[in-house]
Parts: sequence; structure tokens; C-alpha cells
Amino acid sequence: MDNCLFCKIIKGEITSTKVYEDSEILAFRDINPQAPTHILVIPKQHIGSVSEINENNSAIVSHIFVKIAEIAAKENLTNGYRVVSNVGEDGGQTVHHLHFHILGGEKLSEKMS
Ligand code: 5GP
Ligand code: ZN
Repeated sequence: MDNCLFCKIIKGEITSTKVYEDSEILAFRDINPQAPTHILVIPKQHIGSVSEINENNSAIVSHIFVKIAEIAAKENLTNGYRVVSNVGEDGGQTVHHLHFHILGGEKLSEKMS
């Protein structure tokens, strides 16, 4: 996707602070952190959002969640953390490439919305 910000980060056209990378996914620090630890985990394949996950592409989600657990452990989020994926306008999604936020490093708000 030519005009997708996260595809540009994957291609290295926009720099990011990488936390983890393999052939399928990339994790990097959010440019505008909402918590002391704020990491985004994305598939290298362009998928628009959770609403585009289907039986043909869902294996990547399982891989992402295995790595989320590993990244959280490596970041010492031993007291817990939150995983969030915003979808569409009502969900507050601003970048239309599937991503999971890992938020932690402090007691997060009890409010979910
Ligand atoms: P969304 O609002 O779509 O759920 O999340 C998009 C996230 O991408 C936001 O938290 C925002 O701060 C982050 N973001 C936007 N542009 C950039 C960028 O150029 N680099 C990085 N590292 N994060 C970005
Ligand atoms: Zn993309």
C-alpha cells in the first residue's frame, strides 16, 4: 500500500524505534506514547484493521499475540499491561494498517472508552 504510513515504516522509508522484527511482523515504539511503555505491533502484510481479519489471514494474529507476550516480558511489564486495537472511525483508528497497542509501565485508567 503506497500511501500507508505503517507500510512505509516497514520499508524503512520512515524511521522508527524497533523493539522486535521478524519476517512477518514488526514492533516499534509509538511516537506519541500514552503510557510509559507504548509499543505498536503490526503485520508486514497490509491488513486494514481487525475488520479485515478472515480465515485466510488470521494466522498472523496468533503469531502477533505470541510475540506480544514475549515483548511484554522483555519490557518487564510484569505487573500487567493492556493490548488495544482501534477499528474504524468510532474506534478512533487513525492509521489504517492493523496494529495492536501494548500499553503498560503504570496502573492504567480503569476507563476503557
Ligand atoms: P490508532 O490511533 O490508529 O489506533 O494508532 C495509531 C498510532 O500510531 C498512534 O498511537 C500514533 O501515535 C502512532 N503513530 C502515528 N504516526 C507515527 C509514526 O510516524 N511513528 C510512530 N512510531 N508512531 C506513529
Ligand atoms: Zn500498510
